[in-house]
Amino acid sequence: MVENIIEVNHVSKSFGGVHANIDISMAVKKGSITGIIGPNGCGKSTLFNSIVGYHPIDTGSITFEGREISKLLVGPIARLGLLRTFQQTRIYSKMNCVDNMQISVSHRSDARHGFFASRKGEILDRANHLLEFVGLYSKRNLISGDLSFGQQKLLEFAMALMNEPKVLLLDEPTAGINPTLINGLIDRLQRANQELGITLCVIEHNMRVIMNLAEHIYCLSNGRMLADGKPQDLQNDQRVIDAYLGGH
Ligand code: ADP
Ligand code: MG
Repeated sequence: MVENIIEVNHVSKSFGGVHANIDISMAVKKGSITGIIGPNGCGKSTLFNSIVGYHPIDTGSITFEGREISKLLVGPIARLGLLRTFQQTRIYSKMNCVDNMQISVSHRSDARHGFFASRKGEILDRANHLLEFVGLYSKRNLISGDLSFGQQKLLEFAMALMNEPKVLLLDEPTAGINPTLINGLIDRLQRANQELGITLCVIEHNMRVIMNLAEHIYCLSNGRMLADGKPQDLQNDQRVIDAYLGGH
């Protein structure tokens, strides 16, 4: 039996008169890399925000590991192991890399109760290990604002890994990154999936990237789910070509 770690069932979300998501249903298979594509403004980021509890949904349900989460807030959902990264990087640009890594854990609410102090050495070890994992170990003491944009994206990815997610939602991880670093990032995403066992769901504009990365892809258009399937199926789907590929 296929186990879906996330299930989105008939979710709608409006902002005033803007129907950002209309009756969206999708599933993320445990252990998979799942892709989400669609033209700008079609509701991809909104869907991620709904899943992680950033805003309430209007109708529908969302489950994580079989448990209804659509009424939970961001913090409790994150503690279940469901995290997202943002389209814009969110690092502290005046701090060095290793401090950014450590602070990404201390932001969790249990830090108030001495959690961070009692695990300081363990957290530093983990920070160094993950900086090595993304290829930034030699830059660990550099001010993160001095890194290239692509390196900052890698740092942000490593910061998300600090919190040991079961599922990581990545919003356009390769946007603005040069082609050389894109290949490095794809490799790290695949290794995080295979070696660390993290389920990934990736919004991606770069078709080459998503076709190579994802085993199943959902395509949104105008707030609705237009089509889904294996990369090669979607590539040949006239609705997808018309809505997305043809327009780029
Ligand atoms: P995508 O990520 O696919 O580019 P978004 O989910 O960001 O699309 O946006 C979908 C639609 O919802 C857009 O029309 C956008 O302007 C609108 N929208 C998204 N977030 C908000 C918000 N917080 N308030 C008002 N409108 C929003
Ligand atoms: Mg977006």
